[in-house]
Amino acid sequence: MGIRAGIVVTGTEVLTGRVADRNGPWLADRLLELGIELAHITICGDRPADIAAQLAFLAAQDVELIVTSGGLGPTADDLTVDTVAGFCGRKMVLDTALEERITAILRKLVTRMPDLDFDAVRAANRKQAVVPEGATVLEPVGTAPGVVVTPLAAPTPTIVVLPGPPRELQAMWPAALATDAVQAAIAGRVHYRQDTIRMFGPAESALAEALRLAEAEIPGFAELEITTCLRRAELEIVTRYEPAAADSYDRLRAALCDRFGDAVYSTDGATVDDQVAALLAGRWAATAESCTGGLVAGRLTDRPGSSAYLAGGVVSYSNAAKSELLGVDPELIETHGAVSEQVAEAMAVGALRRFGADIAVSTTGIAGPGGGSAEKPVGTVCFCVAAPDQPPVLRTVRLPGNRSDVRERSTTIAMHLLRRALAD
Ligand code: ATP
Ligand code: MG
Repeated sequence: MGIRAGIVVTGTEVLTGRVADRNGPWLADRLLELGIELAHITICGDRPADIAAQLAFLAAQDVELIVTSGGLGPTADDLTVDTVAGFCGRKMVLDTALEERITAILRKLVTRMPDLDFDAVRAANRKQAVVPEGATVLEPVGTAPGVVVTPLAAPTPTIVVLPGPPRELQAMWPAALATDAVQAAIAGRVHYRQDTIRMFGPAESALAEALRLAEAEIPGFAELEITTCLRRAELEIVTRYEPAAADSYDRLRAALCDRFGDAVYSTDGATVDDQVAALLAGRWAATAESCTGGLVAGRLTDRPGSSAYLAGGVVSYSNAAKSELLGVDPELIETHGAVSEQVAEAMAVGALRRFGADIAVSTTGIAGPGGGSAEKPVGTVCFCVAAPDQPPVLRTVRLPGNRSDVRERSTTIAMHLLRRALAD
């Protein structure tokens, strides 16, 4: 068996759901990339007894590595390092050199706050320079240093203690990984490959059937660790395998491409958002959204450099907004209804003109509840992709699910219509 790890996320705000955990999933990805088996992610509040219980639980699961997040701050309720030291049977000692480095960081911070009593700040932060004896210190990204500690009496697990703010935790991770203690703990790991296939259109059941057939036909199929999930209204198939199983994976990919054809739109990990961004290549996009409320514009701007290709977007719920902002003829709305291909087209053409864009996508639909009729029930959504000198691409769909399902699916459909129009 390979190397196993556990993650302990601490923080009452995360436990109660007031802050959504971003550290567990981020660390999980890093561990998986390294070929480390992630056994558990546990979440507990800021109470030392609970943190200690999680450490004991994970150690009993025979993990070689535990990564904790949170509770490194200067305040009295930040007790993770103390608790980990106790668990490892190590005394806490003041690292005077570290204290000096923290003081230097603080001095820089407080120059902007002249009213602050520097000595008081310094005293509060002295706590952060008290570390478990024998620990490797990870230099602060904010003011809190991380530590890597191993139990005094046992060879495993190695415990990496990281700060809670995701930006600090992520910045500190490379240093943690580089320590001798972590390298020694993960030395026996297996180097996996991981590949992702994305499909848009087929149902999960059709994919399940295809995988059943593949299992019977492909030698070495059992060596592939396949995870499928429905995400943002698409199917994502993530496969982890040892390099020796690469032939089996190639055959699986070919089998899925054969069976699902164009529905398989990505085999290299790129998302539809990545592909649209790449396909725009210097061209300007615009959006005109009703039922998706700006989510399409959000997807288009969810990456660095997006200001270079999204010219702008309009969210128009009311008929007046459609007419005033996008130039949709009120008579068109009167005749066909706001949820119609005619209005979708006028919205897209309006956005194209308004922003001087090269391509525009529009959505208009009934996300519900209460807005539907017999002819156009809740879930009816019309789309249009318009570009100068090209016939518009029009689409009407009826989507199942609740309001947020309809919005999410509509957004993904809009991205795929854009992708296809740009690829043609
Ligand atoms: P600080 O010095 O800021 O107190 P800390 O290491 O003690 O750092 P925490 O007190 O646990 O960290 O968390 C500080 C803030 O960081 C939280 O209020 C929260 O906003 C954010 N944070 C902590 N843990 C997580 C997490 N798992 N996911 C997302 N955000 C988090
Ligand atoms: Mg804190």
